[in-house]
Amino acid sequence: MKNRIVGIIGTGPAALMAGTILIENGCDVHFFDHKKAAGRKFLVAGHGGFNLTNSEELATFCEKYDHDFLKKAVRYYSPTDFTVFLAKIGIETYEGTSGKIFPLKGIKPIEVLKRWLEYLSKKGASFHYEHSFVEFDDTNVRFLHRKTQINRTFDAVIFSLGGASWKQTGSTGSWIEYFEKKGVHCLPFQASNSGLELDTMLLNSELEGQQIKNCLLFSKEYSKMGDVLLTRYGIEGAPAYAMNRDFRNGNVIYIDFKPTLAVEEIEYKLKASKSVADGLKKLKLSKIAIDWLKKTCSKDEYVNASFLANRIKRFELQINGLRPIDEVISTVGGIAMDEIDSMFKLKNFRNLYAIGEMLDWDAPTGGYLIQGAVSTGAVAAKGILTT
Ligand SMILES: Cc1cc2nc3c(=O)[nH]c(=O)nc-3n(C[C@H](O)[C@H](O)[C@H](O)COP(=O)(O)OP(=O)(O)OC[C@H]3O[C@@H](n4cnc5c(N)ncnc54)[C@H](O)[C@@H]3O)c2cc1C
Repeated sequence: MKNRIVGIIGTGPAALMAGTILIENGCDVHFFDHKKAAGRKFLVAGHGGFNLTNSEELATFCEKYDHDFLKKAVRYYSPTDFTVFLAKIGIETYEGTSGKIFPLKGIKPIEVLKRWLEYLSKKGASFHYEHSFVEFDDTNVRFLHRKTQINRTFDAVIFSLGGASWKQTGSTGSWIEYFEKKGVHCLPFQASNSGLELDTMLLNSELEGQQIKNCLLFSKEYSKMGDVLLTRYGIEGAPAYAMNRDFRNGNVIYIDFKPTLAVEEIEYKLKASKSVADGLKKLKLSKIAIDWLKKTCSKDEYVNASFLANRIKRFELQINGLRPIDEVISTVGGIAMDEIDSMFKLKNFRNLYAIGEMLDWDAPTGGYLIQGAVSTGAVAAKGILTT
C-alpha cells in the first residue's frame, strides 16, 4: 500500500535503508532520533576503515548470520543491491582485503552519511532530532523532546534503535524497558565481535602490541585464520572476534600457532633441531607463542618434541571474559527473534516493525553487520509496502 505515513525511530543504516525504499515508493517518511544528528554509530564504524559490506559469494555470505531471517533478508537485499544504491547517491566503492567493500579512497565516512541524508531529504523525508521515544502502541508513538511529551500517529512504525555498545553514539539499549513493558520478550545484551580477555598468566607487558600472525583460532563450532594482537588485557583481531559465539556458549577455544603445518611435520622439525630453542626458531614461531609455551609446559613437556608439537597445534586459551559491552563492535541480545515474523514485523502488533542490531542476531565484522542492518531495513520496507 502506498502513500502511508511511516515513522522510523533511529537513524542508523537499518533505518536509513528502510526509509529510502519507503520514500522511493511514495510513502511519507519521518525519522526520529534522540541524538542531535543522524547515524552517529555509522560514523564511528567509519573510523577504523569504513567496511560497508563484503564481496563474498552470496551463499557463503549468508552463512555468516546465525538466524534464517537474516540470511533471507541478505538474499533479498544483497551486497550488490547496496553497492548499486551507494553508487546511485554518488558513493563509489572498492574491494579491499578479504573482500571487504569500502567507499573509494578519499571519501570520508561523513560524506557517505551526508549524501544519504541529502538523498532522503530531497525525496521529502523529514528528520526530527532530540526525540527520545518513550511509549508506543500500534499506531501511536510518544516522544520526549526537550522535556515536552509529543504524540505522533503513523500508519506504520519501524523501530531501528540499535544495540548497546558505544553508548555515546546514541545506541544505548535503554529502549528495552519500553518493549518489555509491552510484553515483548527481550534478551540481555552481551558483547559480540569483542576482544578476548586472557588469564593474567598469558599477558606480557613486554610483548604488548605484538602480533601472532597467520594463526588459527578454533573451537567446537567456529574457526578463523588471521592475525591476533596482544593487548594489555588479552587479544584483539578477527580470529578472536569469530570465537565470541563459542565463548558465550561455554566452549573451549584453542589456537593453532602453525596452521599450515601438520603436527607430524612440526614434530619432525623439532626433533631434527639441535635444541628446542633452535627448533622453535626454525618454525618461525612468534615471541608470544614461545612465551605462552614456556609458561604452560613443564620442563619435561617443553623438551618432548611430540608433546610440544601437539601443544603448538592445539594451545588452549585461558579466557576470563569478553570486553565491556560499551567498547565492543556489536552486541547480541535485544528483541528475541521469535517476537518478529520474516518481514521483521512484531508478531503481536499490527503495524510495528523492528530491524537492525536491536534484534538478537549475530554476525562477524567485515561488512556483515552494516549489510545485515540495511537488509533488514529493506525487508521491513517491503513488508509495509505490501501490506
Ligand atoms: C567501533 C565500531 C566499528 C564498526 N565497524 C563496522 C564495520 O566496519 N562494518 C560493519 O559492517 N559494521 C561495523 N560496526 C557495526 C555497525 O556500526 C552497526 O552494526 C550498525 O550501525 C547497526 O545499525 P543499526 O541501524 O541497527 O543501529 P545503530 O547504527 O546503532 O542506530 C541506532 C539509532 O537509534 C537511535 N536511538 C536509540 N535509542 C533511541 C531512543 N530511545 N529514541 C530515539 N532514538 C534512539 C540511536 O541514537 C541511533 O542513531 C562497527 C561498530 C563499532 C562500534
